[in-house]
Amino acid sequence: MKEIVVISGKGGTGKTSLTASFSFLGGDKMITADCDVDAADMHLLLEPDFAESEDFYSGKMAFIDKNQCTNCGSCAAICRFDAIIEDGNVHRIIELNCEGCGYCYHVCPVDAISMIDNLVGKWYKSKIKTGSFMVHAKLGIGAENSGKLVAKVKQEAKALAEQLGKELVLVDGSPGIGCPVISSLSGANLVVLVAEPSISGIHDLKRVIQLIQKFQIPSCCIINKADINEKNTLELMEFLNRNSVKHIGNIDYNENFTKAMTEGKTIMEYSDKGLADKVQTLWNDILKIL
Ligand code: SF4
Ligand code: SF4
Repeated sequence: MKEIVVISGKGGTGKTSLTASFSFLGGDKMITADCDVDAADMHLLLEPDFAESEDFYSGKMAFIDKNQCTNCGSCAAICRFDAIIEDGNVHRIIELNCEGCGYCYHVCPVDAISMIDNLVGKWYKSKIKTGSFMVHAKLGIGAENSGKLVAKVKQEAKALAEQLGKELVLVDGSPGIGCPVISSLSGANLVVLVAEPSISGIHDLKRVIQLIQKFQIPSCCIINKADINEKNTLELMEFLNRNSVKHIGNIDYNENFTKAMTEGKTIMEYSDKGLADKVQTLWNDILKIL
């Protein structure tokens, strides 16, 4: 079983539209994983049935039993994160502020505080319209630790692929270069970069390539919206060449990316044969490199 991870240095490059289209092309042969858990939107294109779900916990959070609290205020006095406030004749935790350090738990004179598992999100195993399955997740509002949730989504996608005898796991990775994208990259056989020739796009692509090089993962790149700035596109292509990243093709700006997404369709299902043929060719090239 092999794993392809699709990433972009920044959002808005068309990464998710392309990944969903590759998922459509891979069909029943592969499992798709949406690891862009901070802004998950591949479910809009692949129609998951959300058949199985599980809560995801990471770290700890303080909890005050108001029946035991004597309102002494010791906990609020030592909390460095302003996560405890007086509320009537007891104290209570502001969950979004609690960092789970446990200091309050140790100072409470009446053992009114316990440290409980922190619910940060939910992950799902769904049947999708390609006839195969997708593992995806939703991070709770204000929740952190998305890198751990990404690792969980990948782990479950691989386990499902093995269980069902699938050849491939296709991962829609997180944008940026932080913990979630590092988590997306671990164990990948090939990274597909989706870039765009804007100033920020070039800057972010350079950063993400530096990251990939540290992991020594083979990579290739698609430049989307290539015609919006041909000079920058040339600069990007030269940079890819200098850094041994295979440039597999350009896609000109096409508003049908957005129109297809608005209709909940992948590019392969949308009525733009020229664009669909282009995506098919890119997918064939990716499989050849893999
Ligand atoms: S666990 Fe730490 S951050 Fe959370 S309320 Fe207690 S002292 Fe504050
Ligand atoms: S330290 Fe314990 S008893 Fe005192 S206010 Fe905090 S929770 Fe209540």
